[in-house]
Amino acid sequence: MEEKAVQLTDVTKTYRVGREKLHAVRGASLDVAAGELLAIVGPSGSGKTTLTHMIGGLLKPTAGTIIIGGTDITRLRDRALSTFRNKHIGFIFQNYSLLPGYTALENVCLPLIVAGVSPAERKRRAAAYLELVGLGKQMAQKADQLSGGQRQRVAIARALAMQPKIVIADEPTGSLDSARGHEIMNILEHLAHIQKMAVIMVTHDLTLAAKADRQVHMLDGAMQEAAHANR
Ligand code: ADP
Ligand code: MG
Repeated sequence: MEEKAVQLTDVTKTYRVGREKLHAVRGASLDVAAGELLAIVGPSGSGKTTLTHMIGGLLKPTAGTIIIGGTDITRLRDRALSTFRNKHIGFIFQNYSLLPGYTALENVCLPLIVAGVSPAERKRRAAAYLELVGLGKQMAQKADQLSGGQRQRVAIARALAMQPKIVIADEPTGSLDSARGHEIMNILEHLAHIQKMAVIMVTHDLTLAAKADRQVHMLDGAMQEAAHANR
């Protein structure tokens, strides 16, 4: 049996807006296995970002449990949660902020410096992940000399350098053309299928979503599993 990397049970997020309650996520239940690439699709405002932020420990649910690799993160206090997040969860955002005056390699090394990884090990790891995203030849280039697609891949390498168990990508291809979008998709597939990470990708692009192992749809905060799965 495949290991369950992510287990959500009845996860709910309710915001209070003035006197009204806004149900951003309504009782979402979901399992994601290690080695699985899951796509979350749905219209704008349907709760996709809220859900992924809760899975990643950036946002506390109003109710429900979120178990990541056996740990119920809804029970962790802030400090323990942020330590857990840094160690186990890699975020790939659309607004990837790189330090422009620094090289691709230095940008990827940054979280490793924060985590106290030794200089030799962080250089080795950063180089390996830059190779993985196809930037082996651009390591010494400054971030501001790279194309948009290349910068996005540096940000992916940076998220991977901590060797997370779970990768969460919120609209990672949103600002890229479709060829670049497919490159990112291929990297996410590699992470899931070869590196055995659990990869959760939010996307508007139904062609990309169809390439995932499984899709779930969000509508008005409620989650529905798509009828078919690729595996
Ligand atoms: P999506 O990512 O699918 O576009 P979101 O998760 O960003 O959707 O938002 C879901 C709903 O929750 C929207 O109606 C949004 O306006 C609302 N929402 C998100 N964040 C907050 C917040 N901090 N306070 C109040 N409402 C919020
Ligand atoms: Mg969103």
